[in-house]
Amino acid sequence: MFSKAYSASVNGIDGMIVSVEADVSDGLPMFDLVGYLGSEVREARERVRISLKNSGYHLPPKRITVNLSPADIRKEGTAFDLPIAIAILTAFGYIPQKNLAHTLFIGELSLNGDINKVNGVLPIVYTALKQGFTRCIIPAGNVKEGAVVQEMDVYGVSCLKDVIEFLNNDSLLEPYFLDMDELFSNHRGKEDIDFSDVTGQELAKRAIEVGASGMHNILMVGPPGAGKTMLAKRIPTIMPELSFEESLEISKIYSVSGLLDNNQSLILKRPFRSPHHTITSTALTGGGRTPMPGEISLAHLGVLFLDEFPEFNRNTIEILRQPLEENEITITRLQGTFRYPANCMLVAAMNPCSCGHYPNRNKCNCSPNQVKRYLGKISRPLLDRIDICIETLQVNYKDLEEKKVTETSKDIRARVMKAREVQMSRYCNENFNYNSQLTPKSISKYCKLGKKEQILIEKAFTKMNLSARAYHRILKVARTIADLENADDISIKHLSEAICYRSLDKKYWEE
Ligand SMILES: [Zn+2]
Repeated sequence: MFSKAYSASVNGIDGMIVSVEADVSDGLPMFDLVGYLGSEVREARERVRISLKNSGYHLPPKRITVNLSPADIRKEGTAFDLPIAIAILTAFGYIPQKNLAHTLFIGELSLNGDINKVNGVLPIVYTALKQGFTRCIIPAGNVKEGAVVQEMDVYGVSCLKDVIEFLNNDSLLEPYFLDMDELFSNHRGKEDIDFSDVTGQELAKRAIEVGASGMHNILMVGPPGAGKTMLAKRIPTIMPELSFEESLEISKIYSVSGLLDNNQSLILKRPFRSPHHTITSTALTGGGRTPMPGEISLAHLGVLFLDEFPEFNRNTIEILRQPLEENEITITRLQGTFRYPANCMLVAAMNPCSCGHYPNRNKCNCSPNQVKRYLGKISRPLLDRIDICIETLQVNYKDLEEKKVTETSKDIRARVMKAREVQMSRYCNENFNYNSQLTPKSISKYCKLGKKEQILIEKAFTKMNLSARAYHRILKVARTIADLENADDISIKHLSEAICYRSLDKKYWEE
C-alpha cells in the first residue's frame, strides 16, 4: 500500500514543504529511506523503527520504502521522524489516508515514542498556512511558537501514540490557543534598563540618538569604565517598538537557531547581541556544515555590540563588511544557497590603546608605536563603514555628585521615532528606509547643500583630508540631524555636528 504525509524543512528563514511517501510491498523485509538525505535524516530509520515498536506497533515483515521529495533539496535535521512514522503506519493501514488531509507533521522521535522539540517551527507553520494546510501537528515543546500563527490550528503532541489516536478520532485534542494580547501586555514597554541610569555622557548620548534615528553604525572610543557598555545596552530602548511583522521576522531567525521556547515564543524586544571577541567568523556571520544564522542575524533590527573591537580576529571582522552594506548575508553550500536577514546597527567599542588611557599621558605608558599598532587593528575600509565616531570620557566626580534629572529612554525614543517617520515618508518610493542606506547617487538627490554649507564642507574636506566615502558619510549623518529637527534643508549647524562625528577617527587614525 502507498501513503503520503506532509512535512517541511527550513531554507534560510523560510519553510519548504516536503512530502513523505511510504510504500509497503511484499518481498524481502527491509526499510529503505531515500530522497537526498543528510545523515540525521538517514538515522531516522532506526529511531522510527524502534519508537514504533515501543509504542505498540509491530509491523509485519514487509519491504518498506520511504521517499522524501522534492528530491533536489537536501533534507537535514530530525523533524522528519514523525511524518515518516505516520506515513508508514498509514501505508500499513493503521491510519486511513484521508485522515492526513491538509495536515502537516514535524517532530523528532525518541526510542520510547516520545516526541522532542525541533528547530524552525515558526517559519514552517507560517509556510504551511500560506500553502493551504489547515492543521499542524508539532512537538508539545514547540507549541507556543507554532501557535503564534493564529490562523492555523496547531496541536502540540508529546508521544507517537497520542498522534495516532488523535488522527483516528479515538481521542480529542484541542488546537493550542495563544493569547497574543496577554503575550504583548506582559512584554511590551517593560524595560529593566533606561537611559536615565547613565549619568553625564551628554555628548555620547546625543550621538547615539542620531545613530539610532538614521541606523548609523557607531564606534565609541574611551578608557575602561567610561560607560561604553552601559550606553550600548540602552540603545534598543530608544529604538521604536517592534511592529508585529518585525517581531515575526526576528522570531523566525530565533526559531531556526533553536532559541525560542515555550516561555518566549515571540521576540518582542529589539535584539541586543554582544558576542565575545573570541567568536569565530562562522558564529558571527552565520554558516556551518548545516547553515545557521550568526550573531549579525540574531541582532537583526536591533543592535550588534562588539566590545573590545580591536581584539576580534581581523578576518572575522572583515567578513562583516559585506553584510553591513547589504543588510543580509548569503551562504552558499553544496546543498543550496541560504539567505539570512542582517539589518542591524553595529555599535563597536574600544580602548584607545592596550592600557586604555591614551592620550592621557599621566596614565598611559604605551609607546607611540604600540598605540599605532593597537589602533591599526581596525582597518580603514571597516572604519569607512562606521558613520559616527565618538569619545566617551570617564565620568568625573562632579557629574556623579550633581546627578541631574536626565532624560528617560521614552523621551529620546519619541524624537527618534519622529526622525524615522520623516525618513519613511521621504523614501516611500525607494527601496531603503534610513539615511544610513543612502547610495552616493541618492545622496546628491536628498542631501542638497546651500552655498554656505558647500563652502564649509569644502573647507573640512581639504583640511581634514577626507576620502570620498567619509564625505558621503558626513552628508548622511547631517541629513539625520536635520531630520531630528524636521528641517527640510541641511544647515551649517547640522553639517558641523556631522563633521564632529567624523573628526575623532581622524584624531586617532591619522597617518
Ligand atoms: Zn596606553
